[in-house]
Amino acid sequence: MKIQMKHHVMIIGGGIVGCMTAMELVGRGCRVTIVERNQIASQTSGESSWAGGGIILPLLPWMYSEQVNALTNTAANAYRVLSERLQRETGVDANFEQSGFLLLPNFDLQAAQHWCTSNQVPIQAVKASAFGVQSLSGEDALWLPSICQIRPPYLMQAMRKWLEQNNVSMLENTQLMPLQQTDVLNEWQTTNGDKLSADQFVVTSGAWSFDLLKDTSAKLNIKPMRGQILLYKPQKNLEQIVYREGFYMIPRRDGYLLAGSTLEDVGFDASVTDAVREEISAKAEAIMPSLKDQPIIKHWSGLRPGTPENLPTIGAHPSIENLYLNTGHFRYGLTMAPASAKLVVALMLGETPLIDAKPYACELND
Ligand SMILES: Cc1cc2nc3c(=O)[nH]c(=O)nc-3n(C[C@H](O)[C@H](O)[C@H](O)COP(=O)(O)OP(=O)(O)OC[C@H]3O[C@@H](n4cnc5c(N)ncnc54)[C@H](O)[C@@H]3O)c2cc1C
Repeated sequence: MKIQMKHHVMIIGGGIVGCMTAMELVGRGCRVTIVERNQIASQTSGESSWAGGGIILPLLPWMYSEQVNALTNTAANAYRVLSERLQRETGVDANFEQSGFLLLPNFDLQAAQHWCTSNQVPIQAVKASAFGVQSLSGEDALWLPSICQIRPPYLMQAMRKWLEQNNVSMLENTQLMPLQQTDVLNEWQTTNGDKLSADQFVVTSGAWSFDLLKDTSAKLNIKPMRGQILLYKPQKNLEQIVYREGFYMIPRRDGYLLAGSTLEDVGFDASVTDAVREEISAKAEAIMPSLKDQPIIKHWSGLRPGTPENLPTIGAHPSIENLYLNTGHFRYGLTMAPASAKLVVALMLGETPLIDAKPYACELND
């Protein structure tokens, strides 16, 4: 499609997936509006992007399909370039770091080595004690020095500022109603009764996407999956991300340490619980005993857009001509956002995408 200067795209949802999609569209000369029921780059009621840990890697990549990896493999480079650009153009530092990833047992050594070798990711057998951490099931650990992280609240602030500077309209505190089936989408109604129009629309509404489209013909399997996380400021911090059997700790450059997280199927309940606080702190102290004397500074949760196999839906709505979806990134939406935005924008503009779009296509409901 040849884009006219005035081609107007409306994005529903201002999390990382919506903001990244907006940035990609701005780069193609589109006029972009983001509609967000709360505030972009803040956390009000469970928005996932603010809450995330920011590890730029699936946990663990060799346990996921090729289709998941196709969206995550280029993420570290994309964020390296993007964070430099955001810093230069907005002055906001998203805290991109190559902090490395220490994998404590138990793990599948052969699968890890095979994946790292095939993907040119350096890997080294090490002793956990050399990194100052306790390994409960043996000393032999794996060290992946090239793995990176970014700090989600800072990334979101930088993205927001960049979008403002590049004339993206932000309709905040504006919630769209669930959509009714139609052939072409001319207007989408807000809960206040306003009708918003655009040439094309993209749903990037995270865990809320199913409800938004359930009265249309799209087959969507997305539900909220809560994740809780704790924040410490230890006297002596880790220097690398540490992962052990589904649990991780992420050191930040200003001395904070994140520990998490949970995968809870509790609907749209974004509260935090004492039971999880105890569970996470026990796991953290087992790896880093010095945390026993340290206060927990903050405890929060986010609602991930949960999907089977962690596979997002990216592409055209099956029967509404000018509606697209970019949603359902579950545990790795921060990691997937750059490739996912490129893919949906290529499809919207009728270009050949860099990766095969078929695995992410939205099917018709039976
Ligand atoms: C504890 C935790 C740790 C995580 N750690 C990592 C990690 O280390 N690495 C990684 O890659 N990923 C991680 N994730 C996952 C990642 O955060 C998500 O996959 C990603 O944030 C999803 O982004 P999103 O933009 O689709 O959703 P969201 O950030 O939830 O954004 C959706 C937006 O849509 C808005 N919206 C919804 N309905 C409407 C409506 N009707 N009208 C207007 N606006 C609407 C919402 O308010 C929301 O702001 C983690 C998540 C959690 C909770």
